[in-house]
Amino acid sequence: MIDPRASSGEKLTPPHPLPYVSRKALKRVTDWIEPPEQCPNCGSPVELVNNSEIYGREYGGWPYAYRCFDHRGCDSYVGLHPNTDLPLGTLADSFERQARKDNKRHFMTWQELNGWSRKQIYTWLAQRMGIPVSQCHWGLFGVEQANLAGAICEEAIEKMMEASP
Ligand SMILES: [Zn+2]
Repeated sequence: MIDPRASSGEKLTPPHPLPYVSRKALKRVTDWIEPPEQCPNCGSPVELVNNSEIYGREYGGWPYAYRCFDHRGCDSYVGLHPNTDLPLGTLADSFERQARKDNKRHFMTWQELNGWSRKQIYTWLAQRMGIPVSQCHWGLFGVEQANLAGAICEEAIEKMMEASP
């Protein structure tokens, strides 16, 4: 699914503090998730911030994030697709961020070993996890799903290694 604004004629007004929102960039985001208003982990409002407020300095080429208002307690946040106001996934707390990061390594390795496209590996993984492809995405995984996805990929890698001389 693609953001409906990608093909509309309306003027794109960037939400503060974004300098702009690119229609071309919106079109590239095929796994559209609506900008969040409420934190999925605690229900607090969500604010759009420069990520220097999180990391202490600006980080990356599009240094913005959606952040839970309760940043001392809940501490959930998520980055944005470059040149858009679209989140890369759901807001994640420190445990979810760590689980996504740790397990995604195996996924990337497995993708590389097979020479698969993004679509191919997500189709493969969704089937093994028993979930729809539309919900198979690192940006959507909670801790348990991230751990499961990582374990599935890790096991597949090990089997491949055992099979090759
Ligand atoms: Zn929260």
